[in-house]
Amino acid sequence: MTNTKICQSCAMPMTAADHGTNADGIPSADFCKFCMKNGKMGDCTMEQMADICADIDLRDGRAADKQAAVNMYMSVLPMLKRWGGTGTMEYEVVELPQMTVRGLGCRTSNTAPDMSEKIGGLWKSFFGGVFQSIDKKASPYKIGRASCRERMLPRTACRTTP
Ligand SMILES: [Zn+2]
Repeated sequence: MTNTKICQSCAMPMTAADHGTNADGIPSADFCKFCMKNGKMGDCTMEQMADICADIDLRDGRAADKQAAVNMYMSVLPMLKRWGGTGTMEYEVVELPQMTVRGLGCRTSNTAPDMSEKIGGLWKSFFGGVFQSIDKKASPYKIGRASCRERMLPRTACRTTP
């Protein structure tokens, strides 16, 4: 398990240079330089923060759709300390030796009305026979891969050579 250091107000991943400062001028452990300066934070609600972050992502090309970006922030921000969360966003890093990944894919978007149905359906088909038919399974992990502007799910890793 790895804990990534992200700003506990806006969710920005922080390098050492990105930390804000506490009232005593010491770098803040939790907040970025945009959110905290000398112990002071801008006054805004979580909803306003989601809106601000979404606009920045759109401007910088990290998001293509404003509403999808707002939705993403509204699901992440409540986990952060400023907004009453625990501040931990644990995720698992799994290093796999070179493998071939087999499975199903589809193209959809965060705003498509049938997005949940499409992705849910893929998992259903995957476990309803596709997974069982894949030979040389080499890993207990099921991989759900979503790439920018499309989602391709679900797959399983298998070795190419026995
Ligand atoms: Zn921040």
